[in-house]
Amino acid sequence: MVLKVENLSFRYENVGVLNDVTFQAKQGGITGIIGPNGSGKTTLLRCIANVLKPNQGAVFIDGKDTRIFKNKELAKVLSVVPQLTSLTTGFTVFETVLLGRYPHLGVFQRESKKDYQVVNSTLERVGISHLAKRDVDELSGGEKQLVTIALALAQEPQILCLDEPTLHLDINMQYMIMDLCKEISRDKRIVVIVVLHDLTLAAQYCDDLIILKNGKVLAMGPPDEVIVEEYILNTYGVKVIIGQDELTGLKYILPSLGSKVKTIQ
Ligand code: ADP
Repeated sequence: MVLKVENLSFRYENVGVLNDVTFQAKQGGITGIIGPNGSGKTTLLRCIANVLKPNQGAVFIDGKDTRIFKNKELAKVLSVVPQLTSLTTGFTVFETVLLGRYPHLGVFQRESKKDYQVVNSTLERVGISHLAKRDVDELSGGEKQLVTIALALAQEPQILCLDEPTLHLDINMQYMIMDLCKEISRDKRIVVIVVLHDLTLAAQYCDDLIILKNGKVLAMGPPDEVIVEEYILNTYGVKVIIGQDELTGLKYILPSLGSKVKTIQ
């Protein structure tokens, strides 16, 4: 399974937000989208999910233009974990995740034994089986985020898109969510596309990265080629220090204290 975004441009009325964006995301790995606030990351995810219609260009799943997919057909292939989702109140965790089976049900068809099995195995996979009977309103922010990921996974997608899944979570939870994304992409051999703000998480977890600046792709490729001082300064206007853990070789990115924040256009 390959997801291709080709020459995609999008405008909200008169405001151009995405400009000729082209990239490809492969199965079995994480493709990260980074860039400053307002650079078009969420808009790009919404175009990929067919929620917004591009003014130019298109999105292809295994060569098939997503515009020809019916909503339910696309939902069997692609699922989205939106930013700061508010889960429907009054449902248990199990009932909430069961909603993810909707694309697989026919009209008036009730959930089958298989749907219940998928929900149970998804809860186990995400590590929240113990929360199955809890009301979603009672959960912590991190637990709610795991439920939204489980809901998206219950759709059994080939492509999973997540919009800032680590937002407002503590550092332990951030790493837990990113570990989960990595394991899912590898075990289930699916395409995972994730919008991230944290450059260290992006460097450590993504197989490929795309930097968006003012709706254009400024750079793309493996993190080592994309998370470089020059591009970060150019995109965010901040001088950074890129360090490497001696033991693991993992990179980390810190603002260079004392450096001035540059005004960027
Ligand atoms: P990011 O996710 O990188 O922060 P967004 O895709 O949310 O960026 O937004 C990109 C630009 O599009 C911003 O300038 C934002 O104000 C604008 N925008 C987002 N949503 C809408 C909308 N519904 N109507 C008009 N402009 C919008």
